[in-house]
Formats: sequence, structure tokens, C-alpha cells
Amino acid sequence: MLDIKKIRADFPILQELVNGKPLVYFDNAATNQKPQVVIDAIVNYYSKYNANIHRGVHTLSQVATDAYEQAREKVQKHFNVKKSFEIILTAGTTHSINIVASGFTSLLKKGDHIIVSALEHHSNIVPWQMLCERTGAELKVIPINEAGELQMEVYENMLSEKTKIVFANHVSNALGTINPIEEIIEKAHAVGAAVLIDGAQACPHIKPDLQKLDVDFYVTSAHKLCGPTGVGVLYGKEAWLNKLPPYQGGGEMIETVTFEKTTYAGLPHKFEAGTPNIVGGIAFGAALDYMNAVGFENIASYEDELLQYGTEKLSEIEGLRIYGTSVKKAAVISFNIEGVHPFDIGSILDKFGIAVRTGHHCTQPIMNYYNIPGTVRASFSFYNTKEEIDVMVAAVKKAQMMLS
Ligand SMILES: *Cc1c(COP(=O)(O)O)cnc(C)c1O
Repeated sequence: MLDIKKIRADFPILQELVNGKPLVYFDNAATNQKPQVVIDAIVNYYSKYNANIHRGVHTLSQVATDAYEQAREKVQKHFNVKKSFEIILTAGTTHSINIVASGFTSLLKKGDHIIVSALEHHSNIVPWQMLCERTGAELKVIPINEAGELQMEVYENMLSEKTKIVFANHVSNALGTINPIEEIIEKAHAVGAAVLIDGAQACPHIKPDLQKLDVDFYVTSAHKLCGPTGVGVLYGKEAWLNKLPPYQGGGEMIETVTFEKTTYAGLPHKFEAGTPNIVGGIAFGAALDYMNAVGFENIASYEDELLQYGTEKLSEIEGLRIYGTSVKKAAVISFNIEGVHPFDIGSILDKFGIAVRTGHHCTQPIMNYYNIPGTVRASFSFYNTKEEIDVMVAAVKKAQMMLS
């Protein structure tokens, strides 16, 4: 059981007023809020031991290096990864995906197949389209059904020995659908294809065991997990990371440099050119500690309660349609009101201090499928409450009256 009152006191921003009203923050799928311990980790680093890492013999550099490498180990432990150098710290999900997509350039040839799901975020579509342009590989798309679930039988028929890599998100940021990634991975492996899972939306709700999943690549961002922006994770199996060429050249990723030939550093440094986001990595470690202390099972069951409650209350509004009705769903509710543009609802909710997202959520193919310009998306975190949902439902009813 979660002590929500105590948890809310950990997040200074939740005491803020927005447009004169207590903030109701339901834009967690875009980024979630930061507890005081994460803010303290940032302030502490800059006030006590700011130094560049990995290169210095002086004390501060060593303290900073240790703190950064400890953060990597926290990530390793959190995801149950075998070796700490299989965790590459990146600038975020988008950066992580681009490292892999770029690395596959030398591994693909004309006529190879790449499979993506129709539920993907643009950041898990565009890099693969660019890869297809570079290599002549062909992009295949797993379609969805009305409920916003992947059509797995179509996926199965798509797979062949031509398939080289499959990409899917673990949880859809637009609809909340939890995808059957175990099955996606198993079926891809059966034809010898690699799999990359985009966990950016899953990780705030689910603690995945990457060894058990046997996934080849798994990527996520810290800022949806109570951590700072500009930090993310690329997990790759050791053999894959050795096979991929480096993404960027620079300091930190080399072993020796001469003008005749440069040799690359080992993992993880081969993929970590330049000075990393040191403070971000350290604060991400603090965020994982915080969330693990709250407990992911507690988080999942409480958020599920919010999802059920919100779905029920919103469904009572006449003319309101919820998109994404998969049985397995994370705490995201995407909806529209008949005859009203989502942007107008979002603007009125904002006047009541309620933060929701409106638009296509970086998933235009999903919006095209439903033939809509966008949705209003309310996404919950473990610090939200049923009372806040009541505030939103009342405001949606007011907006509906004003706009129709
Ligand atoms: C947020 C998100 C991304 C992009 O993450 P960035 O931190 O902006 O790189 C990608 N995929 C999904 C499913 C997301 O929710």
C-alpha cells in the first residue's frame, strides 16, 4: 500500500498553483515530476564534487567518476542485466535508438526486412526509415486493431529469414497498450532476427527483467522515471554491442589515436564519446533508488486503480470516446469528445490548472488509423489521486458545455 500523502510531499512541484488552481499534473507520459531527492542529487553534485570524470587523478574527479559508475550499476541492477558495460548511458531513448539504427547500416543489404509496429513513437519509426534509405532494406509494419492492439497473426506471417531486426514499444505512449513483447521477441528469434524494445513508456510502470526477456536491445529515458532530461539507457547484449560500430567519434571512446589509425575503447566507452551528462546520470541513479523504495508492484497496482477509476468516470460522459481499449493497458487514457477539437479541451483544462497533452503524441500513424487529428491524453503517475481525476472529469464536462 502506498502512502500517497507522504509521496506527494516528496514532490515540491505538486504544491504549486497553476492559473490560481492547485496543479493537477496528468502529463506523465510526456515527462513525470521529480522528487526532492533527485533535485538534491543535482544540487549536491554541483555544490560539492563537480568535476569531469574518467580522466582525472585528483580527488573530485575520482568522487564524480565513482558516483557516475555507481549510477550505471544501479541501472544494471534495476534491469537485471548481466554486465555493467552492457548498459550504455545515452542522452535518451531517441539517442539510444539512433545508435542502434546507425550501427545496423553495415549489417543490412538490399532486400532485407525490418519490422516495426504501427504503435510506434516517431522516434522509433524515423531512424528505421532513414536506415532503409541508406541500405535498401524494406520496412514492414505490424498493424493494429480497433482496440489498439497489435495484430500478432499478421506479425507471424511477416517474419521470414529476410527479417533482420524487429522494433516495438513495450507500452504505447499514445494509447497505453501493453504489447506482448515476450511473444514478439520469441517469434523474431525463431527466424534469427534481432529485437529492439522501446521501453520509454513502460519503465515508469513496469520493472522489466532484461535477462529473462532475452531481448537484444532495450532503450528508455530517465525523465519519465522521475529522473532528469537528457539521460537515457541503451541496453545491448554484449555480442551485439561488440558487433555494432561506434556512433560518434571523439574523446573517451578511443584506446589509441594516431593520424594513421585509431583503435576504439571497449564497452561501454565505445558508445560514450565526449563528456557525458554526469550530473544527469547520477541523478538518474537517485531516481531509480527512489522509485524502487516506493516499489514497482505498488506503483503498478495503484496506477491500475487510477486507470480503472478514470476510465469509468470519463466513460459516463456522453459523446466521449476512449481510444485504446486493450485489456492489458498502462495508466494512459486517450479520448475525444464528439464535435470538439482536442486542443480546445486541453486549453480549457489548463485554465483549471490541469495539465494534459493534446495532439498526435508523436504517433501520427495511430491517429491516421482512427482518422482523427489527435486526442486529449491524461496519463497518471503514482503521486496522482482519484480526487484529481474527479477535478478533471468535472472540468471536461464544463468544457463540453462551453464548446458544443
Ligand atoms: C517519450 C518516448 C520516446 C522518446 O523519448 P525521448 O526521451 O524524447 O528520447 C520514445 N518512445 C516512447 C514510447 C516514448 O514514450
